[in-house]
Amino acid sequence: MRSAGVPKVFLLEDDLNIIRGMREAAEREGWQFAAASQANGAVEAMKEFAPDIILLDVQLPDGNGFEVCARIAGDGSLTKVPVIFLTAKGDVESRLKGFSAGGRDYVAKPFSVEELLARMRAHASIKQDQDNLKRRLQELNLAERVREDLVDMIVHDLRTPLGTIEVTLEMVHDSGLITDADYARILENAKQAAEFALSMVNDILDVRLGKLRVNAETLHLEALLDRIKRLFSGQLKRYGIALQVDKIEAGEQSVTDETLLFRILMNLLSNAVKFSRSGGRIELKIRAANHQLRIETADQGPGIPDAEKEKIFSKYYRAEGQKSGPVPGMGLGLAFCKLACETLKGRIWVEDNTGGGSRFILELPSLVAKCPITI
Ligand code: ADP
Repeated sequence: MRSAGVPKVFLLEDDLNIIRGMREAAEREGWQFAAASQANGAVEAMKEFAPDIILLDVQLPDGNGFEVCARIAGDGSLTKVPVIFLTAKGDVESRLKGFSAGGRDYVAKPFSVEELLARMRAHASIKQDQDNLKRRLQELNLAERVREDLVDMIVHDLRTPLGTIEVTLEMVHDSGLITDADYARILENAKQAAEFALSMVNDILDVRLGKLRVNAETLHLEALLDRIKRLFSGQLKRYGIALQVDKIEAGEQSVTDETLLFRILMNLLSNAVKFSRSGGRIELKIRAANHQLRIETADQGPGIPDAEKEKIFSKYYRAEGQKSGPVPGMGLGLAFCKLACETLKGRIWVEDNTGGGSRFILELPSLVAKCPITI
């Protein structure tokens, strides 16, 4: 029904006794009631009241119910509202006319109020079922569109790394005069592109499943940073972006899942690169002390408005300006980062970077070593 839980009925009838009786009975049954006693202005009053059921008398002082019914059928906001005619007893012609004017039902005068209420309930319930089905269909259509868009985005985003792999493999294949150094660089490029493509596929699968397997091990921060630097070296060079790494490690080595941490950093730095201008600087700051890891990635990109700061960690969410913008993405990377941080018993959030851009911060506690757990 339109009004949250309270059904509405509108009666068009010139007999004031019938109006009074119906008002009492309908209100007793929990209906909201409105009435008019002449055709003139009735449809406008109905539109304003937005009823779930309309009751129409056939004979009116200034017209007839069939004309009103035709106007209801032609009105965008009322066309789906069921109309019940109040016809004279034995007047078969009026009933048939009522049905062909778009009426759903009729009751013959003098009618039993109980019977009319029962019919109103039945029609209101059918209308509610139809409204629910319509809403469900709209939701399904939307979900289908989202799924199609997602497939488009995945295919689009995978083209870049797969294209790089293909080109580099072709270069290796065609290379007669290639030097050992070039050969190593080409293979490294292909490996990095494959790593990006695989990571993208893994993020999609993990976020869909909503759970991750954790393999807690002593963290080798230096090795992890080397891997990160190597992975991004090509992109940073290509776009003229500087990566400044600042690491402080004190006390015992942290324990966490290095692969998950690598994938989190890969997502955060990929975004930082995507949103940086040529000549920009990205900072990666790591503090590992007192059984706690604190990692920050900061860029000088456009930043993230306050209203979007939480939403960007939701599945498939892309900030307003980005939806149709030039920066590719599926809105899954940060959802993965959040899932991974929570799985590692930590948290992640974003702040404004001093001087512009955004700063993603994650805090992870040191886990208990060598205990694979599935959360
Ligand atoms: P994707 O980048 O694939 O769209 P993410 O989940 O990684 O998905 O990011 C979600 C959204 O958060 C992005 O579309 C973008 O609007 C915003 N965002 C993420 N990182 C940054 C950043 N470093 N600077 C500005 N906006 C960002």
